[in-house]
Formats: sequence, C-alpha cells, structure tokens
Amino acid sequence: SGKATADEVRGGAGRAIDILFLYPKDMNIYGDFGNLLTITRRLSLYGYEPLVHYCNQGDPWPGQVDMVLGGGGQDEGQKKIIDDLQDRAEGLRSLADQGVPMLVICGLYQLFGRYFQATDGTRMEGIGIFDAYTVGQDERMIGNLVEESDQFGSIIGYENHSGQTHLGTGTQPLGRVVHEGTGNNGKDLTEGARTQNVIGSYMHGSVLPKNPAVADFLIRTAAEHRHGSFSPLQTDAQRAELAHLAELAQQARKIAAT
Ligand code: GLN
Repeated sequence: SGKATADEVRGGAGRAIDILFLYPKDMNIYGDFGNLLTITRRLSLYGYEPLVHYCNQGDPWPGQVDMVLGGGGQDEGQKKIIDDLQDRAEGLRSLADQGVPMLVICGLYQLFGRYFQATDGTRMEGIGIFDAYTVGQDERMIGNLVEESDQFGSIIGYENHSGQTHLGTGTQPLGRVVHEGTGNNGKDLTEGARTQNVIGSYMHGSVLPKNPAVADFLIRTAAEHRHGSFSPLQTDAQRAELAHLAELAQQARKIAAT
C-alpha cells in the first residue's frame, strides 16, 4: 500500500467513491446509520474521498454509484418506501449486475427479495435481487446474533425482526448461525443472503464497526468498480487509526459473543 506524507490523505481527484445511502428517513433503525459512518471513515483512512448521496423517496438518482447501503425499518416504514424502491428496481439490479457492492439490512434486505408479506397480511413485491421471500409472524426474533461465513469468518451483530426469510436455490446465505441467534427463519440456521457482491443481513447493531472484514470487502469492491483496483494511499497516522479501530472491533466482538 502507498505511503503518503501529508497529515492525512484526503483523496481528491481520482480517489472519489460515490455511496448511495437508501432511505435514511424511513429505513434506518437500531444503529444502521453506523454502517455509513464506518464506510466513510475507513474510506478516508485508505486515502479515498467518500461522496454520500442520501436518497429518500423522490430524490434524484446520482450519476455515479460505487456502493449502496441501506438499513432496516419496521413494516410501516417499508410500506412508505416500497413504491419508490420499485421505481428504482431496474437501476439497482443493473448496478448489482455490474458488480457494485451493496449492504442492505433487515427491512431493506427483505425488500431486495421476491416479496415480503407483513404481519398484517399486506404483501409487498420486492425487487428480486435475492431469490428469497419473507413472511411476517407474530413472534419477534430479538437478540445477539453470531454466525460463521465462508468468506468473512465469524460475523457478529444483533437481530430484531418478525419476518421469517426463506432462501431459494438461486441465493446463498451470508452465513450460518452458530451459537446464538435465530437468523433468517429460526429453522434452517441460515442468516442473510449473498448474490454477486450484494449482501443482505438481519444484523443491526451496527454491523460494520464490529465486522471490519465486511466493511473492507465493500470498500475494496467499490474501489475496483470505480478505479479498477483497490490501492490504499495513507500516512502512518491513518494506518495507526485503522489498527486502533481493529482493536476496538475485537473488544466489541468478544463482549457480544460471550
Ligand atoms: N419489519 C421487518 C420485520 O420486523 C423489519 C424489521 C427491521 O428492519 N428491524 O421483520
């Protein structure tokens, strides 16, 4: 990785990464905003310039998107955004096909599947990026969640949902619930979904500060999409801050997993 001499490399020309943050108003609960904070800070520490486009209903679609992030929301929040999400479905599917990395949590994860039937029976058609469907139940699944993923090792977070998600054969789970938590549906031990570079998960908490491996996957893939490669350009101070963040994540992971 490159060595820089300024106090802090701030990116600038040729180092921009455009992030689309979906529905900050209605789909952003249980700390999901922390995912955006983690991504923007880490991008800066790798010498990239994060540009954030907040996208609520009716907002313009940005000209450039290198990463998509979206959070959870209750059934009522999902009803508020579903029509707008359908308007953007083609754009999102095309980005997914181009390999753009995405992380969608809980309520948006459900709507990235084929459909979500809310607890009151309302059926919302999803945008079908995941081969999955979700049906709301009376019982909520709440608590810490620890899973094992082939690509990322153990992933730690917190779940709070009533929808039970079932994956079809076209979509792999993100991981398998190991010693705590319910996951997609409480029956088959799967948690989340992965297709192309799109990750869906029930992990709130927020998930990225505690799981830097997942954050760095999104960052590396976004840089490759935008610039052809991931090439950090950082000072010793920036490198030291990343090491410090790794220690904090390790502590948080220990506490959450015991
Ligand atoms: N409304 C969905 C459910 O309860 C999603 C909740 C959430 O995003 N935490 O299943």
